[in-house]
Amino acid sequence: MHPQLQLLVALQDLDEMINETANQGTELEGLGFKHGGLEELKKSREDLATKIEPGHLSWYKRLTGKFGHAVVPVVSNLCTGCFANIPSSFVSKTNENKVQKCESCGRLLYWP
Ligand SMILES: [Zn+2]
Repeated sequence: MHPQLQLLVALQDLDEMINETANQGTELEGLGFKHGGLEELKKSREDLATKIEPGHLSWYKRLTGKFGHAVVPVVSNLCTGCFANIPSSFVSKTNENKVQKCESCGRLLYWP
């Protein structure tokens, strides 16, 4: 997998964890508990984001705003975001050196 894509997948996972922790945190605080971890997660996210090229990062932000998920796996030559067919030329080895976008929805693709 393209190193930038690996970072973007990690960023997406981290964002999900932050959202979950933030939601749980609100519940816990309602019960009188303090929750830790959220600030740490946010810090890890910042660190991670600095390693991602600004162009990819802003694309990621646009997609998460629009779809919720920016990076999706390709399964059976289909984009699992919009179920468009991914041309087999995309799957060629040369593309391992490039962050690939779905031509239909623009989501970033990876082959799991
Ligand atoms: Zn798509």
